[in-house]
Amino acid sequence: MSFQILWLFRIVLIVTFISNGSCFPDQAWYYSFVKDAKLAPMFARFDYIIIGGGTSGCALAATLSQNASVLVLERGGSPYDSPSATDIGNFATTLSNTSPKSWSQLFISEDGVYNTRARVLGGGSVLNAGFYTRAGDDYVKEAEWKSDEVEAAYEWVEEKVAFQPPVMGWQTAFKDGLLEAGEFPYNGFTYDHINGTKIGGTIFDQAGHRHTAANLLEYANPNSLAVYLHANVHKILFTTKGI
Ligand SMILES: Cc1cc2nc3c(=O)[nH]c(=O)nc-3n(C[C@H](O)[C@H](O)[C@H](O)COP(=O)(O)OP(=O)(O)OC[C@H]3O[C@@H](n4cnc5c(N)ncnc54)[C@H](O)[C@@H]3O)c2cc1C
Repeated sequence: MSFQILWLFRIVLIVTFISNGSCFPDQAWYYSFVKDAKLAPMFARFDYIIIGGGTSGCALAATLSQNASVLVLERGGSPYDSPSATDIGNFATTLSNTSPKSWSQLFISEDGVYNTRARVLGGGSVLNAGFYTRAGDDYVKEAEWKSDEVEAAYEWVEEKVAFQPPVMGWQTAFKDGLLEAGEFPYNGFTYDHINGTKIGGTIFDQAGHRHTAANLLEYANPNSLAVYLHANVHKILFTTKGI
């Protein structure tokens, strides 16, 4: 098929988004490719556009940018603007701050349950409880994932964001309670998803600093990735015509 015909059938994705116009000073010292949406050019082409730079969006962007050009549009700000807000001691405060420009957005599910969802680069991994575990073997099998690729993905993630947690007194008591109730065997600390009782992983390091999916952007190819913050996507237009 000639290049022209390929062009004709190529699906061009046009994403319109509105910059919330919030202030993101030139402090992209952490990632050269992360900018405020106000700095986005009027027109640009990318092989992939990822809407939402959350837990999965950041991992996907880092991976795809190795072999393609990638745009990430994230409606929220950056967790690097206020690093201590993600520390373990500020977990409850940050999660419960649902003011209009905060990282946590209140919503009510269709069946009436109050919950929060992320509005920040790194997504839920910036707000959540930080528990980390690998998937169960049955899950991987059912999903028909290749086990060697899954192993490689675990190592990729764990290198940046997974840690062995310190075990507090109440956690020891809880573990002892599970064993007393017969949840055997006791597996000690492990990332593996296995039967019995275990100490799982955490995304908080030994100093209590949270590592988030935004840290996975360290793997990205900075020359083929653009991440725009405060870029709230409202509409996606698809066309089969070349533009
Ligand atoms: C309180 C709480 C505790 C949790 N604890 C754990 C835990 O301990 N361990 C665990 O593994 N999981 C935990 N989870 C679940 C986990 O955080 C989520 O499953 C995971 O983060 C979801 O990832 P995601 O990429 O699907 O979505 P998200 O990480 O939420 O990413 C979605 C992204 O899209 C952006 N976005 C949304 N709409 C738009 C738009 N229109 N335009 C542009 N951007 C947009 C959002 O701002 C966000 O950054 C917890 C969740 C909650 C709420």
